[in-house]
Amino acid sequence: MLLLKDISWEAQKRFWNKVDVRGPEDCWLWKGTLVEAGYGKMNILKKHQLTHRVSVILSGRELPGDLCACHTCDVRACCNPRHLFIGTRSENLADMTMKCRRARGKTHRSFTSPESTPRGEKHCGAKLNDNIVREIIILKKCDVMSKDIAVRFGVSTATISNILNGNRWKHITAIQENYSAHDVKHELAMMEVSHGR
Ligand SMILES: [Zn+2]
Repeated sequence: MLLLKDISWEAQKRFWNKVDVRGPEDCWLWKGTLVEAGYGKMNILKKHQLTHRVSVILSGRELPGDLCACHTCDVRACCNPRHLFIGTRSENLADMTMKCRRARGKTHRSFTSPESTPRGEKHCGAKLNDNIVREIIILKKCDVMSKDIAVRFGVSTATISNILNGNRWKHITAIQENYSAHDVKHELAMMEVSHGR
């Protein structure tokens, strides 16, 4: 777990040099390297760190490795500590689920500025594709309830059942069937990176 005392002045300077600090309520975007999922990253103590997590720690909060730094603004590159709260993985999921429910209408960010909308929200009512189906299967293996998965991806529970029963997307479900616990762990770790841990 990364602690405030582990973040040297040099690293803090590097961090703030790469953050586009604006007004207190604005998003402060990371100007440096982004990981594929859209979060900022930097090296501290020779390890990759996600910059929104660094921001939480720099604001004086402790952030154990098993907890998420969640964005209230849904902008993954945002490092404004006021836009970040600490949650468990299930809270993060519940938060995304709620945002999926809210993500309707023309005033939502996904409509007004789709380019700033993170991938998670694109899942709202998303057309299924290989990656989404893979994620559905992984979530199920992690004991997330079908109805919660359905809400998250904006599809019906019948669609979820069809996938899990192998009636649809057989080419994906067949591959996933032989997954070892290690594979699931690896996939989970990848999902955590892409979902804001
Ligand atoms: Zn923000």
